[in-house]
Amino acid sequence: MLDDEGLPSQYISVRTDITAIKEAQQVLLRSKDELEALVQKRTLQLQEHEEVLNSITSAAQDAVILIDHLGEVAFWNPAAEKMFGYAAIDALKHNLLNLVAPLSNYTDFAKLIQTGEKPLIGMTCETQAKRKDNTEFPVEISISSVKFHGFWHAVAIVRDITSRKMTEERLKQLATTDALTGAYNRRYFNEILHKELLRSNRYSTPLTLILMDVDHFKRVNDVFGHLVGDHVLIQLSALIADTLRESDVLARWGGEEFTVLVPNCDDASGLRLAEKLRLAIESAVFTDVGKITCSFGVTCYQLSDTQQTIIKRADDGLYNAKAAGRNRVEFV
Ligand code: GH3
Ligand code: MG
Ligand code: MG
Repeated sequence: MLDDEGLPSQYISVRTDITAIKEAQQVLLRSKDELEALVQKRTLQLQEHEEVLNSITSAAQDAVILIDHLGEVAFWNPAAEKMFGYAAIDALKHNLLNLVAPLSNYTDFAKLIQTGEKPLIGMTCETQAKRKDNTEFPVEISISSVKFHGFWHAVAIVRDITSRKMTEERLKQLATTDALTGAYNRRYFNEILHKELLRSNRYSTPLTLILMDVDHFKRVNDVFGHLVGDHVLIQLSALIADTLRESDVLARWGGEEFTVLVPNCDDASGLRLAEKLRLAIESAVFTDVGKITCSFGVTCYQLSDTQQTIIKRADDGLYNAKAAGRNRVEFV
């Protein structure tokens, strides 16, 4: 305050107790430190989780693919790169439908990522997938859905089952074919015959059965040896197969006997086919052996036929052909 002459005469001092503010600052500082520590801890945990996830998906032999709500690839692991031929960098942000079309057609990703609905959950399905180079390969795929940031995503785990399919094919081949000639075996032929008899019965379609046997085959073995005999059977089987159509079924009935099942074939056509086979064999020259001939029994489906009755008639026909001098066709 100033006196009359304008000089300072008194001072007023205002004091504020800031203990509370200081304390509040301390608390804030402390909680800031705590928060930072917490954030750091969480970040570390997240990094750890990411690393674990990364090592799992990187080590996985199966393709792990995440598809976002737009149908675009959001994650693509190294196995997916290897399997499909697209590097992750090429795959990300691309529509899976364009990338590996058959895969996405099969599993309705569009619906899954809209609704999260899991029609295929817990199920694995087999389908064909396509690589970058357009080659197709069989896959087994399992799908699940997850929600991120309010949007449904699809997680696809895709397994390349090429080798499993090949093994299955090989096993099927072993179970259905004759090891020497590659023709179907008797067991498989009986299966097909059963089905074809049902079909002929149901739709009244004709069906021809031919049973054939090499004439005097014992002599071939006796003169040239068993190995040459084997080779004759291989050549004979190939010759018959060449003369037949895709839909005809050729089987090795046993020893040097073969059966041919011809769907949708009546007696006249059946006889023509047997005669054609007879002529083809008669005209062929077999390695080391030269000429051989075969006898044929031919029959057609009759109402209420069973496997036994139709085979019996073909066998009777074959018997008649042998009795009548061999190298001929007999219909019963
Ligand atoms: P036909 O039928 O004209 O009456 O005379 P065939 O000499 O052919 O008669 P048969 O059916 O008695 O003999 C068949 C011979 O076929 C006997 C057997 O040694 C031979 N054979 C059967 N399976 C095989 C085989 O896998 N390899 C060889 N090399 N021979 C076989
Ligand atoms: Mg014979
Ligand atoms: Mg025989």
